[in-house]
This record gives sequence, structure tokens and C-alpha cells, in this order.
Amino acid sequence: MAGDARKDGINTMLAHLGNDPHAFHGFVNPPVVRASTVLFPDAGTMASRNQKYTYGTRGTPTTDALASAMDALEGSAGTIIVPSGLAAVCVPFLAFLSAGDHALIVDSVYYPTRHFANGMLKRLGVEVEYYAPEIGADIARQMKPNTKVVFTEAPGSNTFEMQDIPAIADAAHAGGAVVMMDNTWATPLFFRPLDHGVDVSIQAATKYPAGHSDVLLGTASASKACWERLHEAFVTLGVCVGADDAYQVLRGLRTMGVRLERHQESALAIARWLEERPEVAEVLHPALESHPGHEIWKRDFSGSSGIFSIVLKGGSQREAHAFLDALRIFGLGYSWGGFESLALHVSLGDRTIAKGPDAGPIIRLQIGLEDVDDLKNDIERGLRAAATV
Ligand SMILES: *Cc1c(COP(=O)(O)O)cnc(C)c1O
Repeated sequence: MAGDARKDGINTMLAHLGNDPHAFHGFVNPPVVRASTVLFPDAGTMASRNQKYTYGTRGTPTTDALASAMDALEGSAGTIIVPSGLAAVCVPFLAFLSAGDHALIVDSVYYPTRHFANGMLKRLGVEVEYYAPEIGADIARQMKPNTKVVFTEAPGSNTFEMQDIPAIADAAHAGGAVVMMDNTWATPLFFRPLDHGVDVSIQAATKYPAGHSDVLLGTASASKACWERLHEAFVTLGVCVGADDAYQVLRGLRTMGVRLERHQESALAIARWLEERPEVAEVLHPALESHPGHEIWKRDFSGSSGIFSIVLKGGSQREAHAFLDALRIFGLGYSWGGFESLALHVSLGDRTIAKGPDAGPIIRLQIGLEDVDDLKNDIERGLRAAATV
């Protein structure tokens, strides 16, 4: 690794983290080690397993390179690399919950997280309860003696509610719970969960770290106190990743800083422009002064990424579909964090508390790396189509 990572700026870190050229004959990047079997030099070493690598499921120089880069970014003691962002959510739950435990999950959570909690966690005997994203320190009132996990995600999926993470973490710790955060929106570049009291920081590395819509991967990074238990669950479940996928994400990290700067700038320019449009009732973007969670965002976060939502003024699914069908540059598709712009009609049917705005249909926009003027023209086509159905 070049320089002193504690003093280097973020883009300097991103350019070098995880690389140790002189350990690999001087080649800049780590090797892509495709591995199941690892050989031992003799029976004694094999019996004692006393060597750095023992089997492919337990890590390779390629996955270690990515894990060490994530540890430097997150300030964590260890990072597990798993096959998807969803797996990075599920493995920590399985690591820290047992039958009879109670888990508190924010109601604006990523839908597949809710699906896992309501399905598998409940089936395994875990009591699952949802809380309002704005709850802050009042989460103390929802804590029970058996609350073992408080799960946060900020801003919330699709509706972008902010959460007071330090206040929630304090109350959760006072009740003996582990605090997890799905930090996919901000990435550790704009918010470092562990610095704000979170114990396990989760990234869908599929999004900004990968950055090119061509690989699925997840990371979960733990504090010193939580690392052993998280790692044990990872090894127990065998949810390891292929070397090529880990390598692709490490490659993505090199440009994540400059990509995020552009995503941030373009998304903010478009969000501000949309705030002025008469066809738009509301823009749900925490970096806008109009956002109810803006003060928390400003206090805790150092930037914003490329995804936010707009609420159309009136209308229903027909208007939403007219908007989407008129788009030529924005693709209609799931996921985000890639170089290309995407749009979708948000569905909030799963919410029990954070029901979101109801002035009209909600459209989520992922602002890619295209030119802002072209994206505005495209959105304008959508707004015109929605206004004339
Ligand atoms: C996309 C996403 C995930 C899941 O990531 P996958 O790699 O697609 O499984 C988890 N959390 C959030 C907030 C996401 O947006």
C-alpha cells in the first residue's frame, strides 16, 4: 500500500488500497486467484492448519485485497465479502440473532431485507418489529430485554427518510443490541457508520463500488467487538464469492471517488431543477434544504450520491407509466450505482409506518454519468407525457 492511509486523501486511498505490488512481482493489481484447494507443504502443517490460506471458501489473496480496502474505508476490524448486497444484509442477521430474540428494523428498509426478516427470520423464531425512520433516541421505548439487533438504513430505500444514527446507536447499545446499517446510498466515502456508533456496516457493492452494472457483490464490515461473530457466520454458511467478481469490485473502487463526485453533482443539479417544476409535488433528496431530514444529513454525511425520488403532482399508475415510457436515455430497471441513468415507479405497499408521500406517483431516478442537459431533456419528455395522458 502506498503512503500512510491515515493521512492520505480519499482518492489517494482509493487508488492504492488493497494493492501490494511487491508481494506479486511488482504487478500493480493483485492476482485473480481462482481457488478451492490450497496445498500444504507437509502433514503437520495440514493438521495444524497453520498457514495463511487453507481453503477457497475462507478467503484468497483476491478477496483479502478487497476486504482490506473496505476495512480502510469503513474503519472496520474485518469485512466479509459475499455474493450480493442482499446476502450482506442476511448474514449479519443470522450471525447475531437466535430463536426468541427480538429485532427492530426501520420501516423504510430495502424491500428484500423485509422479505428476509418477515419470512426466514420469523420462521426461525425471531420476533421482528418495524420502527419509524424518524424515531431517533425514542427507539429506547421500542427496545425489549430480548432486542438483539437494531437495523438501520439511511436514507430509506425509495423514499429517502434520514435517520439519527448516533442517537439510535446510543439507545440500542444501552439496551444491549448490535446496530447494523445498510449504508449503500452514501458509501463509506460520504458516511462512515462505524464512526457514528454502528457495529456492522453493510454495502451492496453491486452499486457504486462495482459501478458498471455487471457484477453482484456485498460487503459487511464489523467493529472489533463484532468481527469474530460475523466472520464465524460467514465461514459457517459458506457464502463466499468468485475471484473474478471480487476483482471487478476492487477495480471499481479505483474510480469510485471521481464517479461519486459526478453522480452527486449531476443528481443535485437535476433535483434542484425538478424542485422548480410545476409538475413535481416534491423532491425526496436529503441534500436539499427542503428535505425534512436535511439537518441530520448535513450534520453526519459529507456528500450525497446519485439516487433520489420525485413525487408527481397528482395522478396514479397511468401517469407514472406515461412518464417512464417517454424516457429515451433513462433505462427502466432495478438496481443502481452504475454509469447509466435508471428510473422506476416506486411501490410502497409493504410499508406499515413510513408510508411515504401521497400527492401522486413516486418515481425513483438514478442519475448516471451522462450529460445533465440530456438527462433534463429526457425527464422533460417524461413530465410532458405524464401531464397529457
Ligand atoms: C441494491 C440494494 C441491496 C441489495 O444489493 P444486491 O447486490 O442487488 O443484492 C441492499 N440494500 C440496498 C439499500 C440496495 O439498494
